Amino acid sequence: MTTRALTETLRSGVLALGAGLVGFADLLVLDRPPFGRELSRAVSIAVPLDREVVRRVSRGPDALYAREYDRANGELERIARACAMVLSGMGYRALAMEPTCTPPEGSADTTPLPHKTVATLAGLGWIGRCALLVTPGFGSALRLCSVLTDAPLDAGEPWTDSACGDCYECAERCPGGAVRGEAWRQGVSRERLYDHAACRRTAEELSREAGLGSMAICGICMSVCPFTRAYADGGPSPGGDLALH
Ligand code: SF4
Ligand code: SF4
Repeated sequence: MTTRALTETLRSGVLALGAGLVGFADLLVLDRPPFGRELSRAVSIAVPLDREVVRRVSRGPDALYAREYDRANGELERIARACAMVLSGMGYRALAMEPTCTPPEGSADTTPLPHKTVATLAGLGWIGRCALLVTPGFGSALRLCSVLTDAPLDAGEPWTDSACGDCYECAERCPGGAVRGEAWRQGVSRERLYDHAACRRTAEELSREAGLGSMAICGICMSVCPFTRAYADGGPSPGGDLALH
């Protein structure tokens, strides 16, 4: 099978499993690829969140959002494992990573290879001012996962700059003042974009007020983003032909 045929077969298979978006990244473009040359390709998989749930979160998290968050993570785990099994069955190495989770307070970063970094390298979207992945079609209303592999997949064109334009909605609406307002470009650290500790404290407080136990979810910046709103309201993306990236 040619590289292109393999890539397209995997793409349609992952979409058929229920993913909303799938893309392929070449990790060797990173200064220090975290898994070396052995697992130098990654499949970026995204599962969209339910539109109705997403609309409600602009007022803060609730039990429906918590349930939707868990559902999407479960779906991602299932799809990523199935994708890895297909690749293994074809004789390639493949490792399904866990879906994104909230890092513990005080931690410097989430992981050596955040799923949203893989997604930008795969060309699925850019990083917004609030440090979430933003996509033209779904905004930030997505959960993400990655599968690392040595399969020779055709990588997408990486997204290297922000397409937030003059929007500052997430910075203005963040109840914890965590979003600093800087525009992302490839290589900018998460700390330059937002204060993780302030975000975490705010998410814990909002989750406690909503009766969500030990969860620390917020979702306001995700919900208020114009790209997310366009998805949730079923209208055209504010970025127009950005979807053609
Ligand atoms: S998740 Fe909530 S607290 Fe964190 S940056 Fe977004 S709006 Fe602010
Ligand atoms: S709300 Fe605006 S600034 Fe924030 S991520 Fe979305 S487009 Fe970018």
